[in-house]
Amino acid sequence: MDKIILRANAKINLLLDVTGKLPNGYHSLNMIMQSVDLADVVTVERGERALFCSDPAIPTDARNIAWKAVEAFAAATGIDCADTRITIEKHIPSAAGLAGGSADGAAVLTALDRLHGTALSADRLCRIGASFGADVPFCLTGGTRLALNIGDVLAPLPPPESFTFVLAKPACSVSTKEAYDAFDQTAGVSHVDLTALLFDAAKGDWERVLCRTCNTFEQFVEVADRVPIKSVMRRCGSVFSMMSGSGPTVFGVFRARENAEACAEELRRTIPDVFVCDPAPAGVCVLS
Ligand code: ATP
Repeated sequence: MDKIILRANAKINLLLDVTGKLPNGYHSLNMIMQSVDLADVVTVERGERALFCSDPAIPTDARNIAWKAVEAFAAATGIDCADTRITIEKHIPSAAGLAGGSADGAAVLTALDRLHGTALSADRLCRIGASFGADVPFCLTGGTRLALNIGDVLAPLPPPESFTFVLAKPACSVSTKEAYDAFDQTAGVSHVDLTALLFDAAKGDWERVLCRTCNTFEQFVEVADRVPIKSVMRRCGSVFSMMSGSGPTVFGVFRARENAEACAEELRRTIPDVFVCDPAPAGVCVLS
């Protein structure tokens, strides 16, 4: 096998509670992550070393998370990966709170494991992924998961199968580093009762989960379009809406797909990137 094509799914946060700062400088998080079927298409093959990306704004050198995945895989296994050729067809908006880069990194790790026949365990791949991106461990497995610590301690949850999501990414961008700096400078951040929330999540009672959940960053990250987007979503019948990651993407949760489609159509008049998505059962999907 010389070539693998994969779908690398985006994620949204059904919970994102930043609970503190660890001695190593990372932040501790309580999250519920959900894969959605908005995906980049990543091709990994053996050939002349190169990286191509359909989005010219994304670096194609060592700063690209896909290259970090190659380097981390080579360092962990001792395999020479200098002949890796990667092509990324970008559909997930970048710096949007949707883990687009981490999804690509997870896809590359999955591909290299197959191309080189290493058959690494899920746990080993997770540890390699965590070395270059906090969301990579989730993206490797995906689906619906509780993610704790820095996002590397994962447990499966029942999926919210009956929901359709609308993702709206305003034109502004949010720096993840600045969002965490703002957390460090904000006193009195409120948190959720994780035990109560997990009691409902483990039963698959997602409507009750959404009544109690939060995204910490909404308390202090300014996204000008957030309130108008939520207001359109509510008017179109969303049961819930919240920011994903450190923003700026806002997602709405709908019970009826036709309401989600109508909402997306209305949002597209003012918001550049709007997607209607279903929950996905995995983070990475091998196409061929
Ligand atoms: P998260 O939700 O994990 O915080 P995000 O959606 O906010 O992620 P990404 O799109 O994963 O952000 O990446 C943001 C930064 O990473 C950008 O500055 C971008 O230039 C850089 N980057 C490096 N490699 C990639 C890649 N393969 N795809 C997208 N962005 C990449």
